[in-house]
Formats: sequence, structure tokens, C-alpha cells
Amino acid sequence: MAQLSKEKRSKIMSAIHSKNTKPELMVRKYLWRMGFRYRLNYNRLPGHPDIVLRKYRTCIFVNGCFWHGHNCEEFRPPKTNANYWLSKIEKNKKRDKEEHQKLAEMGWHVIVVWECQLKADKRDKTLESLAFTLNHIYLQDHSVSYPRREEETEYEIAAEPLNGRDDG
Ligand SMILES: [Zn+2]
Repeated sequence: MAQLSKEKRSKIMSAIHSKNTKPELMVRKYLWRMGFRYRLNYNRLPGHPDIVLRKYRTCIFVNGCFWHGHNCEEFRPPKTNANYWLSKIEKNKKRDKEEHQKLAEMGWHVIVVWECQLKADKRDKTLESLAFTLNHIYLQDHSVSYPRREEETEYEIAAEPLNGRDDG
């Protein structure tokens, strides 16, 4: 049944590439309700960020844990075609990193919200933390006495401990 599995594969791929995935909508709705204004499909930027807040010089990526290889409980390497998927995911991780780096060099802040952080029991905390981070970024960028450090250009939403990251 090679045909079926090929179909299934492309179905997974298109779901993953969809620009209107549910977790992304969740983040957008929250931001809008909180008064944050953003642009969608701002495709001129590296990595085609899901949400762009120009006032905050911030790009938000809402990442699926599988596709982007998040180091979390949700990430289960597939049993079939494992090598195919794992090498794809490794490539994605590498590309993500490069794109975030490019954005940082262009003066953009990058926030990654992971799908697992939007599960019902973590969602509120994650979204609150996102709003807090955006306000923090804004204040920081508009404060003359607050020197900006390079390592602060990338933020992670701290709904979980940050240990175990492999980004050196
Ligand atoms: Zn995750």
C-alpha cells in the first residue's frame, strides 16, 4: 500500500505547512484581544514569520513540536520512515536557527511559541508570558538607559524549564 502511505504523508505535510493552523489562530486571537496589532503573511522576512508586530520589532513563530523538532514530551519520532522524518526535522531545525539568526541581524526580535505550550493546561500561562515578553521588548527598545545584549534577541516563552536546549 505504498500509495496510501504517500497520500498520508502529503496530508501530514500540508497540515504542517498550513498557515492557519489552530495554535497559530489561538495566539493571534489572544494578541488581538489584548490590543496587539500585527501583520500576517509578511513574507518578505526570512522564515516567513507567522505573526509580525512591527511596533515591537518582533516576529512570532508558532511551531509544531514534531516538524520543528521540539525537545519535549510531544515529540515522538515516527516508527515508520523514521530516517526520512528525522533527517527532514534536522534540516528544519538547522533552517529555523539560520532564519532566526538572520532576523536578529536585521534587528528583529524572535519569539517561538511551541504547540505543546498551547495545550489547555499551559495555554493561559504561555499567552500571558507572551504579552509580558512583548511589553518587555517594547520598553527595552524604547529605553535609552537599557543596553541591549545580543543574546536577548531571541526569546522563548517560559511555560517550561529552558534546560535541555541544544542550541549551544
Ligand atoms: Zn513541544
